[in-house]
Amino acid sequence: MEKKLIGIDLGGTTIKFAILTLTGEIQQKWSIQTNILDDGSHIVPDIITSIKHHLKLYQMQPSQFSGIGMGSPGTVDLKNGTVIGAYNLNWKTLQPVKTAIEKELGIPFLIDNDANVAALGERWKGAGENDNEVVFVTLGTGVGGGIISNGKLVHGVQAAGEIGHMIVEPNGYLCTCGNHGCLETYASATGIVRVARDLAEEYAGPAKLKKLLDDGQDISSKIVFDLAKEADQLALMVVDQVCSYLGLACANIGNLLNPSFIVIGGGVSAAGEFLLDRVKKYFLKYTFPTVRTTTELKLAQLGNDAGVIGAASLALTFN
Ligand SMILES: [Zn+2]
Repeated sequence: MEKKLIGIDLGGTTIKFAILTLTGEIQQKWSIQTNILDDGSHIVPDIITSIKHHLKLYQMQPSQFSGIGMGSPGTVDLKNGTVIGAYNLNWKTLQPVKTAIEKELGIPFLIDNDANVAALGERWKGAGENDNEVVFVTLGTGVGGGIISNGKLVHGVQAAGEIGHMIVEPNGYLCTCGNHGCLETYASATGIVRVARDLAEEYAGPAKLKKLLDDGQDISSKIVFDLAKEADQLALMVVDQVCSYLGLACANIGNLLNPSFIVIGGGVSAAGEFLLDRVKKYFLKYTFPTVRTTTELKLAQLGNDAGVIGAASLALTFN
């Protein structure tokens, strides 16, 4: 009988699980809440209990699985299967995730960084068309990314693919990393709101976005994009600035790596073709001619499933 894979997407609020075939079709999917209390000490035991429970529910045995793959926030040690510094999980000290899971479940286990794993997912079953050269950029609360070159994730010595910290404006906004003008400070959901507030300060025309901000209302990146789609002048200015930085970053990625696809995902990418068209405009402006005609910008296709699918694909190496 053909073996199956388990993918785990560990996040700060939920842990998503899926059982997949070796060709990446999801057969079962479930999730549990992440209990980050007591220094996150319940997380790994909760994962083990949940998998045991579901294997029993589906009448499956550990021997039916080639392996388990997982995506995690924080700094991941691939070889030892440990995680440290995942602050949204309260994991400040070293967590021996692989050892605990393999011991309790008896299934081989591999782990990687959450953005890398999402990149693998989009590459395998999403917009990456299973190509060997794919870069994934995720626009959410922060900006993350993953690079697949020659069919493999690029890890560097420790932290390759930190696309969110590519500097797009040397004298720009202060970033949480300590530098100024990182892409994340402009193109994350919070960055877009920041750009909106700043441009609103200098804007004197009759824009709905300006009025919302002047009234002291909370705005979101979604509101900015929705208003821009209605041709609100200030919102259009904000979107144009954000897209110019994103287009510049994508052009730099393209010029450096010349992937087949640069895939844009994450919550902000829900703005769809409206966002993509504007990023493309600047991408084409800044790219090297050969890259312009061979690297394509695309929207992600898997949404929330990218994490579990990509995580499961880690375990293909056991097959
Ligand atoms: Zn930074």
